[in-house]
Amino acid sequence: MKAIAVYCSSSDVIHQDYFNSANQLGQLMANSGYELVYGGGVVGLMGEVARSVKANGGKTFGVIPEALNLENVVHDIDDELVITKGMRERKALMDERADGFVGLPGGFGTFEEMFEVLTLKQLGYHNKPIVFLNIRGYYDKLLDMFEHIYAEQFAKEQYRVLYHVSETAADTIEYLKSYQAPDLPDKWFM
Ligand code: AMP
Repeated sequence: MKAIAVYCSSSDVIHQDYFNSANQLGQLMANSGYELVYGGGVVGLMGEVARSVKANGGKTFGVIPEALNLENVVHDIDDELVITKGMRERKALMDERADGFVGLPGGFGTFEEMFEVLTLKQLGYHNKPIVFLNIRGYYDKLLDMFEHIYAEQFAKEQYRVLYHVSETAADTIEYLKSYQAPDLPDKWFM
């Protein structure tokens, strides 16, 4: 595994704990030789992870759509920065380039990105690792919702293996390093 896409918040006004974990993840990624694939922005946790990867001697691959390619939004530290026409092309490139996916806390953008890689894995388009880094228990309510999905049979319980939940950046890296792609059941309930 060489490149990891990190999906995470673009907000600068969240609790410091989120920034500390993002910083730690960047450091561990660089130390483990993982390239960072990310949204290319300076803002929020995105900016923090990227600065930490670079500060620790790692590589970053930013992908930003034309509309967000603005001064004060886009980073100038990346080893490679690709500017795409729109958000769809950008996501496709990030997914393709990455060997695994990590979701740090975030808002609608992060949820959309994580749900897309989960859905594609469920349908067998890829079998790459997906991790929720559950800083400050941010994802607890979403994980409860996932249990509700299984209980109500909107998805098979065996799909819990689609994703891993980490409480620390160190556990995230361990999971990525030791990941064995699972055999997944087909999606259909009939
Ligand atoms: P959100 O969770 O709504 O803050 O959105 C963050 C996610 O959407 C990131 O993982 C990015 O890929 C993308 N994104 C949102 N805003 C920006 C931005 N200003 N610059 C780059 N990417 C962004």
